[in-house]
Amino acid sequence: SLAKRKSPGFMAPLRRHSSMESGVLKRHSTGVLRTPGRAHAEPDERERAGSKENEQPQPAGVDPALAKNILQEIVLPREGVSWDDIAGLEEAKATLREIVILPSLRPEIFTGLRAPPRGLLLFGPPGTGKTLLARAVAAEANATFFSVSASTLTSKMFGDGEKLVRALFGVAAQRQPSVVFIDEIDSILTARSSSEHEASRRLKTEFLVQFDGVLSASSQQRVLVMGATNRPQELDDAAIRRLTKRIYIPLPSNGARAALVANLMCKQGKELPAAELRAVAQMTDGYSGSDLANLCKEAAMGPVRELGARIYDATVEQIREIGLADFQSGLRVIRPSVRPETLAQYEAWNAQLGASF
Ligand code: ADP
Repeated sequence: SLAKRKSPGFMAPLRRHSSMESGVLKRHSTGVLRTPGRAHAEPDERERAGSKENEQPQPAGVDPALAKNILQEIVLPREGVSWDDIAGLEEAKATLREIVILPSLRPEIFTGLRAPPRGLLLFGPPGTGKTLLARAVAAEANATFFSVSASTLTSKMFGDGEKLVRALFGVAAQRQPSVVFIDEIDSILTARSSSEHEASRRLKTEFLVQFDGVLSASSQQRVLVMGATNRPQELDDAAIRRLTKRIYIPLPSNGARAALVANLMCKQGKELPAAELRAVAQMTDGYSGSDLANLCKEAAMGPVRELGARIYDATVEQIREIGLADFQSGLRVIRPSVRPETLAQYEAWNAQLGASF
């Protein structure tokens, strides 16, 4: 059973179920959907899985210390981000559910023609929620989720990048179903071959070899490579071909901006009146999700700055509420980070190579 392959760390934190399962079915640790009464693994079941875990052989040809390092440093915990924390991006969420989460929960349905793609790309401007989406997938999918940024692979932290790539895929194959998420994937799979150093060329070659291993594996093998990039135009044809599903993660729409601001304000214990929320959303056309998060932080400082020297003895209750005016002055400080001409490039790339919904 799948439970045998999971380490105790992945077994234990069985958290909330997704809105997708709408309270009717909950995920069981074995990947089987159960009714709510059976939602949690019995403790003895976890222990059994844990002891099996210890007997697990190391993947062939992988340095055990490196494999251990990968499991400690690169595997994301099944917690953290929920779908509801991510504003907008409905199509991207639906696609990720269909090609990553559901196949991991119901592998028996997703076979043959329904077999999910094995290479997936999230692309779009920086700060639009690509990493958040990956983390939400990690939380929902019944899969071991390896998350590494290309700069880690190219840095010396883990020693030889090529060896790390090989070990990463080795451990991923052993712990499947697995998702290997590579942030800034463009810096490994760049098209600018003339300026490539020998070391980065070797890293790229090794990555492609491993990726091809995933693509050509039998249908029982369940490893997905998921990349994210702010620079899709840097990817060469070899990379594009392998990343079969390419999903555009755009700047937030008007509605998503309102949802994002409402969500952050709510976490601060403040509900902005609907009219103010609409006004903020309208004023922030062109802002990315992270620009908006910065704007909210700036706006939240407004009432505090107003206190002046009183900050030293004011009680928390005496601080006035955050309002529209704070956002208006925040807008002068926090400017949108994505230029319109850059946006046009993403849209052109998407029109040519992205999945349309
Ligand atoms: P990317 O990977 O696309 O560069 P991230 O996912 O790292 O961007 O987002 C950076 C930060 O911006 C997040 O931590 C979050 O605060 C905010 N953010 C970006 N997009 C969204 C979104 N769609 N919903 C909620 N928060 C967002």
